[in-house]
Amino acid sequence: MKVGVLALQGAVREHLKALARCGAEACEVRTPEEAAACDGLILPGGESTTIGKLMERYGLTDPIKELAVSGRPLMGTCAGMILMAKNIIAGIEGQPRLALMDVTVERNAFGRQVDSFEAEVEFRGVEGGPFRAVFICAPIIREVGEGVEVLATCEDKIVAARQGNLLALSFHPELTSDPRIHRYFLSMCEQAAKELAR
Ligand code: GLN
Repeated sequence: MKVGVLALQGAVREHLKALARCGAEACEVRTPEEAAACDGLILPGGESTTIGKLMERYGLTDPIKELAVSGRPLMGTCAGMILMAKNIIAGIEGQPRLALMDVTVERNAFGRQVDSFEAEVEFRGVEGGPFRAVFICAPIIREVGEGVEVLATCEDKIVAARQGNLLALSFHPELTSDPRIHRYFLSMCEQAAKELAR
């Protein structure tokens, strides 16, 4: 199994390290061919308008959408979550995106860089106590559609959700040494790979 990390901008190396710590084969994705060869893909945090523009420039938007439509898992963290959302509040006019997940997210909803913080969040489906979540200029999920499961909240705000093979987080699990959320995503990838091999 091979899990990719979209490597255009943002916290790429940290996700590659987190995947390696879990014993997964991880690779950087910059081309349509590299995207198509993945069993799952992580869209990292960074700056969503920049990542979106580069995604368009490198012809990656459609291949990533195809990956998701084929049933292979995507995990978007922070800016990556914004790219996955169907609706964006406080986005930039015409900001390129994947628009895959039935959620409305608000960019920078926890405030600007100075408002970055850490908090303990309970993550549904992840055992072993609360997860220490790092929020950096983080978006919030304001609305979820039918078929979207809320996995975590912080101060009553939705900060993690899942819709089938799509997993979205407001925070950065790659910035702590706790591997549980990457393991959770890897088990989604394993499950999907099994189903696709049938
Ligand atoms: N505020 C950034 C954006 O809108 C996201 C920040 C992050 O990924 N840490 O793209």
